[in-house]
Amino acid sequence: MGETRGVTGGGQRRAEVRGYALAMPVRFRGLTRREGLLWRGAAGWAEWSPFLDYSGAELVPWLRAADEAADRGWPAPVRDAVPVNCTVPAVGPEQAHAIVSRAVSGWGCRTAKVKVAERGQALADDLARCEAVRDALGPDGHLRVDANGGWELDAAEAAVRALDRYGLEYVEQPCWAVEDLAALRVRLARAGAPVPVAADESIRRADDPYRVVALDAADVAVLKVAPLGGVHAALEVAERIGLPVVVSSAVETSVGLAAGVALAAALSALPYACGLATTSLLDGDVVIDPLVPADGALPVRAVEVDEGRLAQHRMATADEASWSERLARTRALDEAAGSGRG
Ligand SMILES: [Mg+2]
Repeated sequence: MGETRGVTGGGQRRAEVRGYALAMPVRFRGLTRREGLLWRGAAGWAEWSPFLDYSGAELVPWLRAADEAADRGWPAPVRDAVPVNCTVPAVGPEQAHAIVSRAVSGWGCRTAKVKVAERGQALADDLARCEAVRDALGPDGHLRVDANGGWELDAAEAAVRALDRYGLEYVEQPCWAVEDLAALRVRLARAGAPVPVAADESIRRADDPYRVVALDAADVAVLKVAPLGGVHAALEVAERIGLPVVVSSAVETSVGLAAGVALAAALSALPYACGLATTSLLDGDVVIDPLVPADGALPVRAVEVDEGRLAQHRMATADEASWSERLARTRALDEAAGSGRG
């Protein structure tokens, strides 16, 4: 509360900060609602929407990413469109088929990411879902699965080998521990089913990608802009780790997604579709021209907040006050860390 409520900026400028709250029609990664703060700086719009289970110093990179979007801007793009995948939550096969069919016919989707290893479900559910998705994609489409660390090592090996009958592009975070990812890669290779392994949750902080590389734990790195502290910082990580990178969203509005698109657009190589077509997971958006794919890709461009849409999805006043306090605490932490950012 008090002086910091509703403002941000390091002193030279105070921008109006407003919160959004959007329902998620289908529960995804345990979430049924997404919320965060938005503000505009000289370089553009910023979104600060760290998940509610993040706290303390973990929030600082998310703030640096938002400040970069508002005040500094992003590196020059080397491509003008970013191929993206559609995302299939842990739904039944009919619904999975419908989601992918809509994405294929509606926005030219060629890659689907399918949630597997959902708590309370069995491998049979994953197989049925992947079978339906392969059918909707056709033989040339790319099918990847994401376990969000939900399998133990033995279960992961069995599941990946079984699911690979539908032709897997890669398996994302099959196990939680980085050591298990490394062990799984060896097991799959020995079994003659060398499905590439992507690390996602294993890369949550800036140092994590180097550990993944040191342990030979992944073939692909999934990078998100906000937890790595911005597009410039994530680009530096991508260039240093030497693994193919898939840029993924943290299920933000188009304001946050634009930063992910900027990272994907600046990478020297982009061999896989990115997980940035996530606006459909939210029940609305806050920009004039939302980042919705066409021809299987998102355009590389800036976005502008639509005042009417933001008003429609504005966060409740009490929630906005607590988010503003969270922002103020995080900015104090960032300043205490004495970062040399401009
Ligand atoms: Mg993932």
